[in-house]
Amino acid sequence: MVRETAYYDILGVSPRASYDEIKRAFRRLALKYHPDKNPNAGEKFKQISKAYEVLSDSSKRELYDRGGESAINGNGSFQRGACSSPMDIFDLFFGTRSRSRSRGERKGKTVTHCLSVSLEELYNGATRKLSIQKNVICLKCKGSGARQGSEVRCRRCQGTGVEVRVLGRIPGVVHSVQSTCSDCNGQGECIKTRDRCRYCDGRKVVREKKILTVHIDKGMKNRQKMIFHGEGDQAPGLQPGDIIIILEQKEHPVFQRKDNDLVMKLEISLADALCGCKQKVQTLDGRTILITSQPGEVIRPDETKCILKAGMPKYRDPFEKGNLIIQFKVNFPKPGWIPADRLQELQEIFPLKSKPNLPDNTEDVNLTDYDPSEDQRHQHRREVYEEDNDTYHPMQCQAS
Ligand SMILES: [Zn+2]
Ligand SMILES: [Zn+2]
Repeated sequence: MVRETAYYDILGVSPRASYDEIKRAFRRLALKYHPDKNPNAGEKFKQISKAYEVLSDSSKRELYDRGGESAINGNGSFQRGACSSPMDIFDLFFGTRSRSRSRGERKGKTVTHCLSVSLEELYNGATRKLSIQKNVICLKCKGSGARQGSEVRCRRCQGTGVEVRVLGRIPGVVHSVQSTCSDCNGQGECIKTRDRCRYCDGRKVVREKKILTVHIDKGMKNRQKMIFHGEGDQAPGLQPGDIIIILEQKEHPVFQRKDNDLVMKLEISLADALCGCKQKVQTLDGRTILITSQPGEVIRPDETKCILKAGMPKYRDPFEKGNLIIQFKVNFPKPGWIPADRLQELQEIFPLKSKPNLPDNTEDVNLTDYDPSEDQRHQHRREVYEEDNDTYHPMQCQAS
């Protein structure tokens, strides 16, 4: 797809180089060939700056990739906002002069897309291709909206967008009013239907599909944003807007993420809890680990244990990892699981039961299942009953 590669060759990068690679290459070369250091390399410095000016701006780069240098030089809308001097580009890049030139530049709007990712992708890192639609400057008319060679400037207002009407003239004084040009609606441009660019139908931009490559780094977080500078809609005279990709992590059936820790629930039987257990767990990078508790080690219901450094990799420091936190759920056996005559055997294994000291008037009571919702209904019924009585005060009743 890339036709001319001269600008890439000047910077010594591949036509597929990322924005960061281009920036790095420019930094290295610009310092090397700066006229202060290398007074004889003026021409080379100019070439480097020009190449960087084009390749660092995604819309210019795209135009260059499609139409070469001639597409860049023939585009009026780009020349307006461009910094023509290599020194300006250098100063902008290294911040050696204030960015006064860019203050007035208007920018297209930022578009946000969500990208649904799995916890595995956030753990291992991944590359995803995202297909987006965006407006790009029409290559046929180079963003003018008109056929080549045709007059674009509005004749009525001479391209100013403002109409001046003379209302009256008395000797020495001209009485006039200014209004928005009615032919071009103040745009200063007027393209006749027959002069319209056929490719974009005079709209100056065309809708194009673009594949955005999203690199998900190990340890990135849910809702983390990635900014693609200048990848948004293009429009003549505007700096292209940005695209922001927001990662949205899908729920995982086993692991919940808490910062860099992973949390999982593990159900074990009462026998496992008392006698030691072995449970295999599939990790997010596809390994199988065996979680082992030693015989004699007792795991209590809702106990939490952890495996150090088995959690998520840290973003930008992926060899550092969080912990894997395991919340145990101990499944007790169902009522009646053991014949009554064998309970004695079990009792003998366990530590001695405490025998309460009982006074003579001790009453025997039985346990039943407790259901809080059932309890509330009883309470409600009682209130309704007692409300018939004029002396009833619900607050007092509840407090007793
Ligand atoms: Zn006009
Ligand atoms: Zn066009």
